Amino acid sequence: MLVHQMARRLFRPVLGSAAGRVNARIPPSLKVGREFRTVRSLLRDSSDWPLEKLHAWQLERLRSVVTHAAVHVPGYSRLFRDAGFDPRDIRSLEDVRRLPFTSKEMFRDALADFTSGGPPRFGRMYVTTGGSTGIPFGFNQHKALFDLDAAFVVEAWGLAGFRWGDRVGILRGSFVGTAEAPFRQYNESLYRGLELSTYYLTPESYPRYRNALHAFRPTALHVYPSAGHIFATLAAEAGDAGGFPEIRAIFTASEHLHPWQARSLRKAFPQARVFDLYSNAEKAVFTSWCDRADVHHAWPQYGILEVLDPTTGQDAAEGAVGEIVATSFWNLATPFLRYRTSDRARVGTSPCRACGRPWKTLSRIEGRVQELVVTADGRFISMTALNMHNDLFDHVRQFQFTQREVGRLELRVAPKPDFTPEHQQRIQREMESKLGTAMQLEVIVVDAIPRTRAGKLRFLEQYLPIQYEGGPVDDDSGEQP
Ligand SMILES: [Zn+2]
Repeated sequence: MLVHQMARRLFRPVLGSAAGRVNARIPPSLKVGREFRTVRSLLRDSSDWPLEKLHAWQLERLRSVVTHAAVHVPGYSRLFRDAGFDPRDIRSLEDVRRLPFTSKEMFRDALADFTSGGPPRFGRMYVTTGGSTGIPFGFNQHKALFDLDAAFVVEAWGLAGFRWGDRVGILRGSFVGTAEAPFRQYNESLYRGLELSTYYLTPESYPRYRNALHAFRPTALHVYPSAGHIFATLAAEAGDAGGFPEIRAIFTASEHLHPWQARSLRKAFPQARVFDLYSNAEKAVFTSWCDRADVHHAWPQYGILEVLDPTTGQDAAEGAVGEIVATSFWNLATPFLRYRTSDRARVGTSPCRACGRPWKTLSRIEGRVQELVVTADGRFISMTALNMHNDLFDHVRQFQFTQREVGRLELRVAPKPDFTPEHQQRIQREMESKLGTAMQLEVIVVDAIPRTRAGKLRFLEQYLPIQYEGGPVDDDSGEQP
């Protein structure tokens, strides 16, 4: 307790600017608009709707957003005309399949065409994305969409015990503060937050982070899996595993959560539920883990989520992997309809086997198409398949794959102090057995692995232009950590 009090005293003066302090006093409840409350009550009302009622509601939303696109968005009017599609053709949810596909390239090349000339006229914001897909592009959202999204997040996280306005520690990679005080306290629509800059996080600076968290007393962490993994590793190394009993949940988002990352988080925070959420900047898709199992619920109130077999273009079967194609009900400024996300998932059971909700589930998000490597004989291997479920990387602080040419892969490892040449040989041997003979692997020991400007630690730097069109991709056993 004394340590906490001291930490609080040391920590207070460095909480940032005057503006930051004012911001930190405005409670989350004053930072949301009407849409937040409207959507939140919708989510509460509809949480136990039977399938029939849910489908009727979805059908109405689908018709409404498709009609809006046909009338107000020239790109869609043209697309529908070329495909011989009329919004009146939508008579059941299955008719979503009549809609033509859209892709990142289409929005990138003709954004003006895909922007609504009608509502919403006000509060429009231009948003850019594409860092992780290699296809940078921008689009429009109306401001209310952020509130609306927040309502979904509050309800999703609520399944893991989160209450709106809770204190949350944030490890998401922003540059905040300085090397001496890499923190910023601020409130936003979801929580009262303490942001900790991952950029300055090293074994030497770790104690400052621990003290800052102890002083702030968050009940949850909101992390990029890569940043959370680094923090968890340092905490475990410092003998602090289990030393944050007040943290009851760790919310991962924005990057693919690999099993080894979930495992290191659970090791450092044994009292916390690791809880994954998957969405994208386009706000076309929203899934989060079930309260009773580590499977993703596709929230039916957000939109229609399809997982399509890359070869046939039909719905992928239960247990199979396909591309996520999303139709969002909510973004009217730049509607995303039957949008190919480039993300892949494994189809789970419906209804959910763990909780019984009559929703679609994904037993796993398999990562992005860009998380594939290409062998000399042209096969794709998913990074998920390269997950090691044993102690292979226990003597490594960080690692990163790089592919610059077909059939060759570099693996950089930043070792822990106890790393030996035998550990390096074992990594070489075991990874080679996973990659097969059509991939040459070079293991390179480095001091540190640089993070991207956004503070993410990219697990794979893929320099090849990957076009995923099916084929044998993934032979992972599906084993969970
Ligand atoms: Zn469930």
